[in-house]
Amino acid sequence: MMEWYTYLLKIGELSLKKGNRAGFERILRQNLVTLLRGSKASVTVTNGRFYVRTPSEGAGQVEDALDRLMGITGWARTKAVEKTPCAVRGACIEVARELAERGIKSFKVEARRTDKRFPLDSYGIRCDAGQAIREAVPALAVDVHTPQAIIEVEIRERAYIYAMEQKGRRGLPSGTAGRGLLLLSGGIDSPAAGYMMLSRGMALDAVYFHAYPYTAEEARQKVIRIAEILGSYSLGIRLFTVGFTAVQMRIKERAPLPWTTVLLRMAMMECAEELALRRHCKCLITGESLSQVASQTAENISCAQSRVSLPVFRPLIGMDKEQIIRVAESIGTYETSILPYEDCCVIFSPPHPILRGDSGEAGELYEKLELSELIVDALNNSAVDRCGFPAVLTPLAGSSRYHPGLTGQAGTLPPPEGDRPGQIRWEEEI
Ligand code: ATP
Ligand code: MG
Repeated sequence: MMEWYTYLLKIGELSLKKGNRAGFERILRQNLVTLLRGSKASVTVTNGRFYVRTPSEGAGQVEDALDRLMGITGWARTKAVEKTPCAVRGACIEVARELAERGIKSFKVEARRTDKRFPLDSYGIRCDAGQAIREAVPALAVDVHTPQAIIEVEIRERAYIYAMEQKGRRGLPSGTAGRGLLLLSGGIDSPAAGYMMLSRGMALDAVYFHAYPYTAEEARQKVIRIAEILGSYSLGIRLFTVGFTAVQMRIKERAPLPWTTVLLRMAMMECAEELALRRHCKCLITGESLSQVASQTAENISCAQSRVSLPVFRPLIGMDKEQIIRVAESIGTYETSILPYEDCCVIFSPPHPILRGDSGEAGELYEKLELSELIVDALNNSAVDRCGFPAVLTPLAGSSRYHPGLTGQAGTLPPPEGDRPGQIRWEEEI
C-alpha cells in the first residue's frame, strides 16, 4: 500500500497582515505549487494553515521545496489521524518511537485544540499522550523544562501529531514586493544582498557587467552559478550580462586615474537603471557595505547614485564582512564566490582611488566621458540567462545569448535556435 505523508507549514509574519493576508497567502500557495510541479504532491489551505500531502517517494522534492520556500517560519512532517483520543495516543507513540530511534532521550507534549468538540482539553491531551508514551517508549523521559524534543498535537480538521519542526526561511513570499534589479558581481557581497531582498518578498532580475577579454569567461560562468543558487530561492532569476569593455576603456582613456572606480560605478548605475526601467523593476540593489572599500564611503556612494532616480537598496550597508560571509555561507553562494576569477572592477582599479569624491566634480568628469551611446549599445547587446528556475519551467535549450562583442568570438554556450545575440524583446516575458 502506498504510504502518504502530510506536511504542515507555519507562516509567521504573514499572519500579521490583516486585510492583505489573503493576497500574501495566495502568492505563497502559487509559489509552493510551482516548486512542486511535476510531483504528485497536493497543497491545501484550511483555516489559514498550509498542508502538503505527498506519496512517500515524493518526500525528497517536497522537503527540498519547503527548505527553499520564502515566507514560512517552519515546517514539519506530521501524522494526520482521526480525531479520537485513541488515534492521537497511537500516533504520539509512533512519533515518540521515531525520536527514540534517533537517540532522543527526553520529551514533552504540547497540545492545541481548535475543535472544542474533542473530548479532552489541551491539558488533558498532554497528560493522556505523555502517559501513553512513557509506558510504550521507556527510553524517553518526560522533561517539561529542557526537553530534547517536543511532540506537538493539534486538533483541527484532523488530529496532527509531529515533532522535529524544521526551520523555514522566514521573510515574505517571493513576488509579493514586486521586482528589483540586483547588480550582481562574482563577489561575496552582492549575492548576500540579493538574498536579503528576496527574503523580503522581492523577485529579482540581475545584471552582471562583464569586461571580456579582461575578465575571463570563467568569471561569467561563476556569476551564472551564483544566480542559479539565488534563483533557486525565488522561482528563478533572469541574469543579464552586459559587455562593459568599451565603457571601461573610455573611462580609462578620458578620466583621471584616481576617479576611475567611482566613474565606473556611475556608468554601471546608469546602465542598470535603463535595464530596470525596461524590465519594470522598482529599484536597484547593490552589495555595498559602508566603508568596506574606497568606493563605498558615503561620499563615493552618493557620487555613484547621483545619475539615477530609482531607489537604490543596499541591504548590507551596516554589516561587517564576517556577518556578510555568514549569510553567503548559509545560502550556499560563498564557496562559488571565493573562486579566483577577477571582477572587472579589480582589473581597472587604480592604486590610489579617490576616497571622498565630490558629486559635482564627479558629474563634470562623467559628462566628459560621453557614455550614453556606449551604454545603450552595451545594453542592447546584452545576453540573458534564466537561472534557477524550477526544472519543469526551464526550457530545454541553453538560454545564453552572450557573444563577447569586442573580439567577435562566440561565447562558449551556443545560442538557442532562432535567437540572435542582442535580440531581447524587452516588453515580453523572457
Ligand atoms: P561584491 O562582493 O558584491 O563584488 P565588493 O565588496 O567587491 O562587492 P565592489 O566591487 O566595490 O564591492 O562592488 C560594489 C557593488 O557594486 C557590488 O556589491 C555589486 O552590487 C556592484 N558591482 C560591482 N561590480 C559589478 C559587476 N561587474 N557587475 C555587476 N555589479 C557589480
Ligand atoms: Mg566585487
